[in-house]
Amino acid sequence: MSKSKSSESVKVVVRCRPMNEKERAAKYESVVSVDVKLGQIIVRNPRESSGNELPKIFTFDAVYGWNSKQLEMYDETFRPLVESVLLGFNGTIFAYGQTGTGKTYTMEGVRNDPEKRGVIPNSFEHIFTHISRSQNQQYLVRASYLEIYQEEIRDLLSKDQSRRLELRERPDTGVYVKDLSSFVTKSVREIEHVMNVGNQNRSVGATNMNEHSSRSHAIFVITVECSELGVDGENHIRVGKLNLVDLAGSERQTKTGAQGERLKEATKINLSLSALGNVISALVDGRSSHIPYRDSKLTRLLQDSLGGNARTVMVANIGPASYNVEETLTTLRYSNRAKNIKNKPRINEDPKDALLREFQEEIARLKAQLQKRSGKKKRRRLRRRAGEGSDDEGLESGETEDDEEDGDDKGDYWREQQEKLEKERKAILEDHSLVAEEKARLLKEKERKMEDLRKEREAGEKLAAKVKAMESKLLVGGKNIVDHTNEQQRMLEQKRQEIAEQKRREREMQQQMESRDEETLELKETYTSLQQEVDIKTKKLKKLFSKLQSVKAEIQDLQEAHINERQEMEQIQNELTRDLKLKHLIIENFIPLEEKNKIVNRAFFDEEPEEWKMKPITRIEDDHQMMSRPRSAVSYWRPLSHHARVAMMLKPDMRYKAENIIMLDMDIPARTTKEYQEPVIAPKLAAALEDALRDEDEIEVDATSFHSSLGQMLPAGASGSLKKPKSGRPRTGKKSSTPTSSYSPSSPGSPLYPQSRGLVPK
Ligand code: ADP
Ligand code: MG
Repeated sequence: MSKSKSSESVKVVVRCRPMNEKERAAKYESVVSVDVKLGQIIVRNPRESSGNELPKIFTFDAVYGWNSKQLEMYDETFRPLVESVLLGFNGTIFAYGQTGTGKTYTMEGVRNDPEKRGVIPNSFEHIFTHISRSQNQQYLVRASYLEIYQEEIRDLLSKDQSRRLELRERPDTGVYVKDLSSFVTKSVREIEHVMNVGNQNRSVGATNMNEHSSRSHAIFVITVECSELGVDGENHIRVGKLNLVDLAGSERQTKTGAQGERLKEATKINLSLSALGNVISALVDGRSSHIPYRDSKLTRLLQDSLGGNARTVMVANIGPASYNVEETLTTLRYSNRAKNIKNKPRINEDPKDALLREFQEEIARLKAQLQKRSGKKKRRRLRRRAGEGSDDEGLESGETEDDEEDGDDKGDYWREQQEKLEKERKAILEDHSLVAEEKARLLKEKERKMEDLRKEREAGEKLAAKVKAMESKLLVGGKNIVDHTNEQQRMLEQKRQEIAEQKRREREMQQQMESRDEETLELKETYTSLQQEVDIKTKKLKKLFSKLQSVKAEIQDLQEAHINERQEMEQIQNELTRDLKLKHLIIENFIPLEEKNKIVNRAFFDEEPEEWKMKPITRIEDDHQMMSRPRSAVSYWRPLSHHARVAMMLKPDMRYKAENIIMLDMDIPARTTKEYQEPVIAPKLAAALEDALRDEDEIEVDATSFHSSLGQMLPAGASGSLKKPKSGRPRTGKKSSTPTSSYSPSSPGSPLYPQSRGLVPK
């Protein structure tokens, strides 16, 4: 891992655990051999029939056998990563593998055995030792601990373990867990305590710890902030974040015959792990532009660790026994792919959300406040000492005084004041010349003054204590932590590191040589005779042929694995489809279509938590939100009597549990009627209708219309009066006046025909 490179690969190491008691008792044979020098894992096929099948070889950055030591692994593989976190890089360690292969052993180890402590406790030691040896740097270390179970995030350090947290995204700092608690820790002991609390909480929620831990992902996060004076004379803050991830067991969940609820759980578990696999595939594929980070909580949260701004180490854990060979091979193939992920780590300098900066500013503010207080006190004292000195004088001298002196004689000042007040009190008591009343008054006043003095003193002390507490959280080398190591130990550590580095280089060289050997073998050869050439070429051919065979076998294996995977997915799909059919059946037969449609119309998909949600009920036409039901004056859903309120709190009686009922807003049905609108009738038709409905004695025959229809000019007045009243609405008999009504007897142009007489009785 060179620091100058802008892009670097994910480092993948494999660790094979020893056979456990059961396996040894059942006499399983070991099919895994570990070549530490070459960094290779060799897996034999345990099947009888495949006697001549070649073993499968996988090469990794480093491999660890059954007798590997935790510390040795830390020095070689994890120390450089944690070291770079201390420099301000992000770092992530994943433990991947089947349940029971040693993920938790690698990450946490055996708590009480210093030899068997895992990465997490070893990194605590590493971080705090580094800080204690630092110079002119200020550090702030904090820890968080969370768990992802069934795609739900639980804060393992929070008091309320039933709460589920959500992921949020900010453009500047990326994805984070909203409301995740984090604890500032000042020493190894404190951060160990945080880990223990989290581990306890982890098992609290689980009915079966083994099963729970095999299905959940645990992430321990350590954030190290470091402030240092830069060459530009300003304080710069670097922030490194270390994610320590104990993943869920990688074994296929469907094998366990998951049904119903279990299946739901299994598919969800698979989601985070398979999303991790998909992200890895997409990253190393090179062709796909879309990386499906958003498919699961895990991949979203650890997006930076996979192809982003982080250094990443993946530890693949495997078991040696023959019955695990399938899972072992799957794990090896999976991690083999991860080797090709390219990350782009960089130092995080002066990020906006550095807590250290906030702390520094707060301390400065509190200190200024404290200074002001003591300044005031001193001024007062000086004034008193100077007798009737002017105000200005006192102010000046108060300000010119030194800080340190102030701290030293603070106690003196308080004592002095108190003694003085006490003396005055005594003087009053002894003074017999005063009237009793006057005495009492003076005494009271003195007592009040003493009380004030005490309060002021307390407030000052509180402030000072707060400053002290905050300052103690900021760690400075050699001051807060006692460095127990002596020079010799330090040398030893350095040597260990050097050895680890050397081993790594050796392994790399061996690996390179191996691959170069095959390429150049041919070039170097010079043949003395034809026979020799044939021999050598035959040998070479044999070698290549066997290689071809193993590659072919690998292809076949992969195809088989692929088919298996597909079949399993199909199986899951079938189960889900069956489930869906049941739901459909219920909906179709038991929920009225109308209700269903209403629900469908209201439902929408919220992208952030990836859930279906219901829109609040709205009025269909205008899309305005309906008013929600108001609460009663005492903010219950309905007015309650005093007796009911008391009973509600005291008794577990159903009768008083009305508040527990879910409130459902009234669902206003869609409207099926319309406002009345008058029919539109053609004006001619309306006129005809009107005529027909008119009383007979109103009828006037007007010949002018006859004229006008012939195109003859009419007198202006007459034509105007003949026009129908212009109105947008069709006329009805009642509302509009009849055309005849506009005729007055005096209107020009007398009727041509005599008025009808109406009906005359015969
Ligand atoms: P996982 O977390 O992957 O389910 P564990 O870490 O719980 O597996 O390991 C299962 C058991 O195997 C534990 O009892 C652990 O002590 C033991 N074990 C795992 N790896 C090693 C190892 N490298 N050396 C010794 N014991 C191991
Ligand atoms: Mg485990």
